[in-house]
Amino acid sequence: MYFRSLRFKLTLWYVLILGVLLISFSSFLYITLSRSLRRDVDDRLRSLAGLIASESSSPSSKFGFGDIDETLQASLGLRPAGKFIQVLDESGKIGQKSDNLSNIQLPVSFAALRNAVRGVPTYETFHPLGTPPLRVITYPVLEKLHIARIVQVASSLEDVEEALNTLLIILVVTVPLTLLVASLGGQFLANQVLKPVGHVTRTARLITSQNLNQSIQVPRGRDELTSLVETFNEMIFRLGKSFDQIKQFTSDASHELKTPLTVLKGEMEVALRKERSSQDYEQVLRSNLEEINRMSRIVEDLLFLSKTDTGEIRLLKEEINLTEIVRDVVAQLSLLAEMKGLRLIATNHHEEIHVLADGLCMRQLLVNLIYNGIKYTEPGGSIQVALENTPPATSVSPDEQGSSVKIIVSDSGIGISKEDQEKIFDRFYRADKARSRDQGGSGLGLSICKWIVQAHRGRISVDSDLGKGSVFTVTLPLH
Ligand code: ADP
Repeated sequence: MYFRSLRFKLTLWYVLILGVLLISFSSFLYITLSRSLRRDVDDRLRSLAGLIASESSSPSSKFGFGDIDETLQASLGLRPAGKFIQVLDESGKIGQKSDNLSNIQLPVSFAALRNAVRGVPTYETFHPLGTPPLRVITYPVLEKLHIARIVQVASSLEDVEEALNTLLIILVVTVPLTLLVASLGGQFLANQVLKPVGHVTRTARLITSQNLNQSIQVPRGRDELTSLVETFNEMIFRLGKSFDQIKQFTSDASHELKTPLTVLKGEMEVALRKERSSQDYEQVLRSNLEEINRMSRIVEDLLFLSKTDTGEIRLLKEEINLTEIVRDVVAQLSLLAEMKGLRLIATNHHEEIHVLADGLCMRQLLVNLIYNGIKYTEPGGSIQVALENTPPATSVSPDEQGSSVKIIVSDSGIGISKEDQEKIFDRFYRADKARSRDQGGSGLGLSICKWIVQAHRGRISVDSDLGKGSVFTVTLPLH
């Protein structure tokens, strides 16, 4: 589990990257130092060999015989410490040697002699058994373009090797140690950074559908984690709201169905208590049918709304004649209006207006709005339905582009108070429950209207004064 954790992965990457950097840096340091030290040795060998060569070529030179250390002391005023010197004649025979060589001699390779004949100095490293490596320069001395003698100067590489070995030991010890400390530090940092994640996980685990009002404590500071937790909290809030809505919807729906069922049950129980005349039974049956009709309307509306929620309702948009639909619906409902002593009038219905919309939905929208007008207007009043063509606005806002059509349903009814106006489009909301139920309402009609209008990218609004009447305005885009 630990090896799959983010903490482990972060630390691993951190240590890997640091490891690669440290090893590259150490290798670079080692190689550069080694080159520079060896170049230093070579430079010193060459300058000494050059000095000896030029001194040996001077007319007063004592080279070629005697003790070379004394010769050097006499001619150059120096006794080079730690340097082995050997002079060969032009045939490669060893002549003078420095004291420190005593009975041994510097190695002379064939390649070095061949280079010397061509006038080219040669650097070589020898590894004598049991002693540190030896760096040797084989330096030809030319006189009148001919090789006169060969000077060999050698120096032990012991100091160089020692310095490099010390550096290597330091690096070999410190690099892994640094990586170890870095991995511990990395773990600590990852722990610190990820600590709130554990907290978030634990809290999130405790959240169920029962306590969606809980939120996760937002970690201090403003970083990616804070915005993640905030987004998470917003999501929980939205989920909570949806859950509440579903709960409310279920309880409202059961309540709506319970009332007609109670009425049905009561009426039937009373009817069955004793023998009754066929007229009484007929009356009970009529009343029952009314309640059953009410229930089936509620169930139909509920089914429609639940289908809109699940996206099952697909609009069949086509070019429809809205004027004709208004005419039809008005004709269909005018009998109902007349029976209640109301006037139902369609104004401006001569101009044919066509829109791209679902014909059935438009009918349902008009029926709901006009039927509401009939339900909530006292006898003697009137309901008017008007269609208005609105040309495209000159200063267009993004949602008001193009031409639109307005459906205006106004009545001279009881009106709706300002605070109720905001809620009447909510499911099951009824301003006056008793009156609405008497009129056969369930509080779902306007929610259906709102869905239909929004599905057509339109808007619905209400303007009303209590006691004076209401005006419902639907604005739909023509295309
Ligand atoms: P209902 O089936 O109760 O009529 P609606 O969703 O159609 O349900 O309407 C919701 C509420 O809005 C109604 O209960 C009523 O109080 C109010 N309402 C709707 N239309 C009108 C209107 N034309 N005049 C007055 N009140 C209205």
